[in-house]
Amino acid sequence: MKEHTQLVTAGRHPERYAGMVNTPVFRGSTILHGSMAELKDKIKRRAANEPGVSTYGRYGTPTHHALQEAIAELEGGFRSQVYPSGLAACATALTSLLSAGDHVLLTDSAYTPTRDFLTRVLGRYGVEFTIYDPAVGAGIEASIQPNTRVVYVESPGSETFEVQDIPAIAAAAHRHGAKVLMDNTWGTPLFFKPFEHGVDVSIQAATKYIVGHSDAMLGIVTCTEEMWPLIKRTTQDMGQTAGPDDTYLALRGLRTMNVRLQQHWKSAVEIATWLESRPEVEKVLHPALPSHPGHELWKRDFLGACGLFAIVLKPAPAAAVEAFIDSLQLFGIGFSWGGYESLIIPFDPSGDRSATQWPYTGQALRLHIGLEDPADLVADLEQGLTVLERTQAQLLVA
Ligand SMILES: *Cc1c(COP(=O)(O)O)cnc(C)c1O
Repeated sequence: MKEHTQLVTAGRHPERYAGMVNTPVFRGSTILHGSMAELKDKIKRRAANEPGVSTYGRYGTPTHHALQEAIAELEGGFRSQVYPSGLAACATALTSLLSAGDHVLLTDSAYTPTRDFLTRVLGRYGVEFTIYDPAVGAGIEASIQPNTRVVYVESPGSETFEVQDIPAIAAAAHRHGAKVLMDNTWGTPLFFKPFEHGVDVSIQAATKYIVGHSDAMLGIVTCTEEMWPLIKRTTQDMGQTAGPDDTYLALRGLRTMNVRLQQHWKSAVEIATWLESRPEVEKVLHPALPSHPGHELWKRDFLGACGLFAIVLKPAPAAAVEAFIDSLQLFGIGFSWGGYESLIIPFDPSGDRSATQWPYTGQALRLHIGLEDPADLVADLEQGLTVLERTQAQLLVA
């Protein structure tokens, strides 16, 4: 079945819910069991990893099971588990696999809160880590230690957009018995198939494109059959669960994700290409542009691109950059991404890096291209760059 069809069909069981097209929102803690025999049977089936079996609200309701079934099918993993946020998914996935004395290799391009969880929290519990250059590829092998348990990848990095050679990294990790955890939020379950490239555990910040409307927080971990008992047990031990209403919003968002992503992709490439032609812009970082250093890897491994990318401005006074951002009408100043609306946020990766050096001095800006008409977005950016030029000229005179 084509995956765009899967987006529509996955996880749906109208026959169970009076014919309702969508699995309803099931709110609940207590689940009643008809008899002791039924309770014992459910406990047994849950222990055997049968999906959709629950004895208590924390272990999921049919709403959670519907989303988990759909994402596991789309990403191509064995089972999925929902979490109250993307970061909770990253943190629980790491905690599931690691013990005191284990070593983690973490990409320098990782989402900063994930890095903080590893270094600040797991570090306190005796987990060792080494930060590596995301461009390392097969060279990762030289950094693998006898106690390396996890190689954590995020491709492309969600601020700096380095594309990683996941198959090469996974081959090296597996040769030494290490597992590959991937933050696959940028690739989405549609555009990067983690389990075809050697990933063992894939993480989605569903808050982004899966929810797709900036109105809920949610995370999802999907994994291989081998990893599932560890993920399941740790999730349970840590009391992780997610609200059914937010889970429903993710299910609803999922159904239209393909058409939204096609537009985000097309508009982002159009706007990124336009920005490349602008004299105020030093560099545009979008893997789908031929000028991007990771473009060949992106073409080889990805099936599409989303609307998130970065630009670096030529060095300009902070006041001129701020005047540019403030002048924008269609780009909201905000964190996050993956919703229907365009966003812009300045960032400075230099303080978060240890294995690589950010080579630019101008202000870096992350853009999320929403579903507005790209011509309107270009016009908005164009007037903004005029404001930047004008403010800069005024500052020079003053
Ligand atoms: C946003 C984000 C997360 C965290 O998701 P939340 O739902 O905000 O906790 C993790 N990884 C990446 C790449 C993200 O962009």
